[in-house]
Amino acid sequence: MTIVQKYGGTSVGTLDRLRNVARRVAARAAEGEQIAVVVSAMGKTTDDLLSLARAVNPRPPRRETDLLMATGEMVSSALLTMALVEMGCPSVALTGAQAGVFTDDTFGRARIRGIDTWRMEEEFAQGHVVVVAGFQGQSPQGDYATLGRGGSDTSAVALGAALRAKQVEIYTDVQGIYTSDPRIEPNARCLKDIASEEMLEAAQQGAGVMHPRAVELGLLYEIPILVASSQAEFGSGNGTLIRGKVEMEPENRVRTIALDRDVASVTLRHIPDRPGIASQLFGPLADAGVSVDTIVQNASELQLTDLTFTVTKDDWERTQEISRPLAGELGAADVLFDHDLVKVSLIGTGMQSGPGYAATMFRSLSDAGINIELITTSEIRITCLVRADRGEEAVRVLHSAFALDQEI
Ligand code: ASP
Ligand code: MG
Repeated sequence: MTIVQKYGGTSVGTLDRLRNVARRVAARAAEGEQIAVVVSAMGKTTDDLLSLARAVNPRPPRRETDLLMATGEMVSSALLTMALVEMGCPSVALTGAQAGVFTDDTFGRARIRGIDTWRMEEEFAQGHVVVVAGFQGQSPQGDYATLGRGGSDTSAVALGAALRAKQVEIYTDVQGIYTSDPRIEPNARCLKDIASEEMLEAAQQGAGVMHPRAVELGLLYEIPILVASSQAEFGSGNGTLIRGKVEMEPENRVRTIALDRDVASVTLRHIPDRPGIASQLFGPLADAGVSVDTIVQNASELQLTDLTFTVTKDDWERTQEISRPLAGELGAADVLFDHDLVKVSLIGTGMQSGPGYAATMFRSLSDAGINIELITTSEIRITCLVRADRGEEAVRVLHSAFALDQEI
């Protein structure tokens, strides 16, 4: 069976680190494992390439932007392969296209449509470690297309699914998945495991360690994903295993707390409460490619209601351009824009069966004098929007309210 390993930009950021990665890969290969390695671009390469693009054209064409960005991962895959060969570990570097990764043609955020594994299988048959440039694939026209920032995680899990790998291993510059961001809460604990569903919610709610689409693929194809430090010894029990079922943690409860800074809200005040209003508003936003996150509509009074929704900061300007005139057309008394907010989310499958979590969350925030602007929930998540300058404090307050520093 195959193993897919992915090394992030920091892990291959210098030649020393790249050699370290090569040593790790070579050691696993020597144990007889069949390995596909997915790499990100070295260090801040992708950012640098984007700056170059913008320096010559403030609105660079998307196709060529993808062509340019895709080179970052080609460099690291070629260099890693050279290092492996130098160590006596037979290996071959493949671009996304050569590895058989086919995408659609939405440049900048292409989706993988399928993976044809024949070339990789052929290389495996010859005893090669296959090093694949992450973050990229080939569009139906044969163009380079990239998967969106952080997309190498998605490449790795997609390859894992296509190769029916027993596990995908994501090596990064942190120890694993924590009970909250340790830079915000020093008492945060690294989790031994987390359910795929929980990880998906966490990734969607701003836990930056893994790309949400990668987690989604892992869930869909039931592939266990290990997230661990590229410095830690393999098999030392380090890291966090993301998988379908988690060993029962008795009565657990909140698994992790996520903070998402990428949020902005729009409120339409006093719009008429009649059929069709929501579709007149969200239709044009969807047509413009804006993906709306949370939507809250209040109970109406005198046939008038307030409606609030959130978007990411990327979509913020477009959202204002679209919703300002629409608010007028729909007869809203007022339209308010707010980008000084963050989302704080409690996540845990154990919360489904327990009634007290929301109450404890709201009470802890209120005791700390933190105002809740908006509340949303899913079956395994409770999210509060709070003022941006209180977000980190809210995380710490909740981390201690739910005693997440203590193992159960
Ligand atoms: N190099 C790409 C980025 O910086 C993809 C990745 O690192 O996963 O977004
Ligand atoms: Mg990354």
